[in-house]
Amino acid sequence: MATLFTLPVLPYALQDLEPVISKQTLDFHYGKHLQAYVNQLNALSEGTPYAEMTLEEIIRQAPAGPLFNNAGQVYNHTQYFLQFQTPVVDEATHVPSGRLLEALVGAFGSFEAFRERMTAAATGLFGSGWIWLVQNESGTLDLLPCPNADNPVKHGVKGLMCFDVWEHAYYLDYQNRRADHLKALWRLIDWAVIEQRMG
Ligand code: MN
Repeated sequence: MATLFTLPVLPYALQDLEPVISKQTLDFHYGKHLQAYVNQLNALSEGTPYAEMTLEEIIRQAPAGPLFNNAGQVYNHTQYFLQFQTPVVDEATHVPSGRLLEALVGAFGSFEAFRERMTAAATGLFGSGWIWLVQNESGTLDLLPCPNADNPVKHGVKGLMCFDVWEHAYYLDYQNRRADHLKALWRLIDWAVIEQRMG
């Protein structure tokens, strides 16, 4: 019997990311948008060989279309929501350390340069999609822009951290000010989680 896909259990309450992300946004983004992707994924895979696969296997094997889109969005949002913690007060001192910092410096020159490049890539992505920090097979880090439901699994790389730039991620709190939303998101990143995702 196939196991149904479910919402990820969050390590924080829905009001805990305020004021960067409001409870109202999470009520919709996590409770309604992601729930809808999960429901669609279950409905589309039911009774097919995909029902016996892992999420990653579905993403690798599904043809372009609704099944891939819903599987991709379940993966993207699960990684997105699980990378956050309650906002820090001082963003300047909230930086990664250890091998994550070392890899970021190796790829981008400095943590600050990485932060600027990821923010700029997310601000400039046209339409709906994601910006991912990914780890290539060789272990090096890079940025990967992903339109719509595209994701690192499809590209054969490990996804470490992502920004969702679909309007539903920020419109209730920031309206058209995507750049302000992205600037604030850095206060929420749990660097220990990002480092754990490294291979
Ligand atoms: Mn989203």
